[in-house]
Amino acid sequence: MTEAKTDIKSLYPEEVAGLLKEMGEPSYRASQVFTWLHRYGAAAFSEMTNLPKSLREALDGRCRIPGCEKAAVQVSKADGTRKYLFRLSDGHLIESVLMRYRYGISVCVSTQVGCRMGCRFCASTLGGRVRDLLPSEILDQVYRIEADAGERVSHVVLMGSGEPFDNYDAVVRFLRLVSDPGGKQISLRNITVSTCGLTEGILRFAGEGLPVTLALSLHASDDETRKKLMPVANRYTLKEVLEACDTYFRKTGRRVSCEYSVVRGVNDTDKDAEKLGRLLAGRKMHVNLIPVNPVTENRFERPDPGSIAAFQKKLTACGVHATVRRELGTDIDGACGQLRAHFLNPGEGGTVS
Ligand code: SAH
Repeated sequence: MTEAKTDIKSLYPEEVAGLLKEMGEPSYRASQVFTWLHRYGAAAFSEMTNLPKSLREALDGRCRIPGCEKAAVQVSKADGTRKYLFRLSDGHLIESVLMRYRYGISVCVSTQVGCRMGCRFCASTLGGRVRDLLPSEILDQVYRIEADAGERVSHVVLMGSGEPFDNYDAVVRFLRLVSDPGGKQISLRNITVSTCGLTEGILRFAGEGLPVTLALSLHASDDETRKKLMPVANRYTLKEVLEACDTYFRKTGRRVSCEYSVVRGVNDTDKDAEKLGRLLAGRKMHVNLIPVNPVTENRFERPDPGSIAAFQKKLTACGVHATVRRELGTDIDGACGQLRAHFLNPGEGGTVS
């Protein structure tokens, strides 16, 4: 059996340099290769036209460039939001989304094929975790979307399918590579990593020296309610996960924000808002309220806009800054996983090109 080829697009610059040195190449070749991969998003060594043909062939013999191939895209007529369906080299499908804001273009990337966290309201977890994405595959979602849209991506959120801290090393590599001066150089301050609350991951991440924003998927203000929505709450109590966030803030100086999917009859009462307020006021954590997206396979419903506004008001009264997430792409809306489902079962409606 031949040895597996190296995923060159997941390597740090110094590792690319080490590889080329081993191949007997002068050091400037490493930065040429890195630039091709990360600034120009080259998908094949044959595109690297300023390298000698012999080197391109030698690289091709020992390395591979994993990436994403566009399978479908759905464009919102309302606001230009674009949902992409990408096919990976082994045939698995993942979704990514481009969103337009006043401050720039934000891309939401997936970190795993599927997810094993089991949150009851989330479509990405229905089939469990299929596999982790490679750093190169997380990066390529950004590179392909930037090339397709023809505009610079300024912000990235790790909120597609997958739990970032369940694929920790790949996510950290992704963050370092996407912000590398030799690549796309996306500012780490413009990147948000969202976690369902894997406490060890949060604590480890606090020591990485990466000035990104950490978002915690909280979704409840007591352990009992949280357990109904998120199996991860059986592993860590709210107290443990919030203390990990306190440590994160102490170590990094960066405030953690919370996501709270509001579900009718589950976590949307005045009392819930008050409890949440008490939990977060001293911590100065910002809350992002997300009216829950209905998923066919579950029975959760969103409260009417009036009760969400009342919930927000209550939080504000407790001294907690809260915003209701602006909904983009309402005409192509739906929870994560919808585009994939429509693509696989085209009879079920939705326009996919
Ligand atoms: N695994 C990570 C990131 C993925 S999801 C995490 O749990 O944070 C990004 C956010 O969308 C999370 O807060 C998640 O809980 C939320 N979410 C998932 N499905 C949803 C739905 N149907 N309606 C509203 N929010 C949802």
